Amino acid sequence: METKSVTYKEVLSWNDEQALAFIERRRWSNGPICPKCGSVREPYSITRKSKTKNKVTSIYRCKDCKKDFTATVGTIFEGSHIPLSTWLAAIFDIVQSKKGISAHQLHRKYDITYKSALFMAHRIRFAMRNKSFDKLTGTVEADATYVGGKTRRGHKVVHERIQDEIEMGLRPKHPGLKRGQRHPRMDKVVVLGAVERGGSVRTQVVKAESGPEVRPILSKNVDLANVHLMTDGSSAYHRISEYGQHDVVNHEVEYARGNVHTQNIEGYWSILKRGIIGTFHHVSEHRLPMYLNEFEYRFNQRKITDADRFEALVSQTHGRLDWYRQSQD
Ligand SMILES: [Zn+2]
Repeated sequence: METKSVTYKEVLSWNDEQALAFIERRRWSNGPICPKCGSVREPYSITRKSKTKNKVTSIYRCKDCKKDFTATVGTIFEGSHIPLSTWLAAIFDIVQSKKGISAHQLHRKYDITYKSALFMAHRIRFAMRNKSFDKLTGTVEADATYVGGKTRRGHKVVHERIQDEIEMGLRPKHPGLKRGQRHPRMDKVVVLGAVERGGSVRTQVVKAESGPEVRPILSKNVDLANVHLMTDGSSAYHRISEYGQHDVVNHEVEYARGNVHTQNIEGYWSILKRGIIGTFHHVSEHRLPMYLNEFEYRFNQRKITDADRFEALVSQTHGRLDWYRQSQD
């Protein structure tokens, strides 16, 4: 384990072998583990003449099962032709930006196709998904907001899902829908959120801000029996916390009453919306959960440095690779 944090400048200077060595240190602090058979015997080191996926030439061969592997097996980097050095630079960009980085920005900055940039951005967002199942506690503010739909001036929004599928070659180019063309239909999506004051936020797309929708989600994410819950007057939260304390701020007559307010979750909504509108223009309902991941991650990791966020994210890049199917749910 390195004792000194890496800097952005350092990461930008890395070649693909150095990037692979970094991923390896983050993933296997006690040396390589064969992803096929789990062997921890020190593998053979092999240098290929031609570059393999991710543009690296150094690989391992397991002494037990004889299979070749690198530290990218089973990670978001697996099977990608994008150089590993570009992946790590893009991860650093995403963790250090306040509002996020769009696939278009990555495409221009790293001279990769838009399709590759999109693929990379989606996978990085997948790595950013929340892995903590601890319930929020203390004083918790819950609220719902509306995301998407038409712009303030009533302009139609780009239908990004169809757009992505065309770009990724998953859908033939529709004669009636050309690149960058705006799609007339997109409804606003309801997002439910809860934030622990001084702590973490959880957000999720819901069908409506109603009791039956909100209750199971809040009880899964919030220690309702013990928290001091703050909400607005929406009927969705009526009698939600049967044992804990629940205070309601009636926004029709007041903004706050002493410490009874929902200003933290409202502040979070404004960060989310500024980010989505400013950086991504508009996000379709199907893609929204991934963007919620990204903003949640950034907020929940706000107390650590960019370098620590970078290292932590590289350490959690392994996971189930049916990520794309998951993101379609
Ligand atoms: Zn093996």
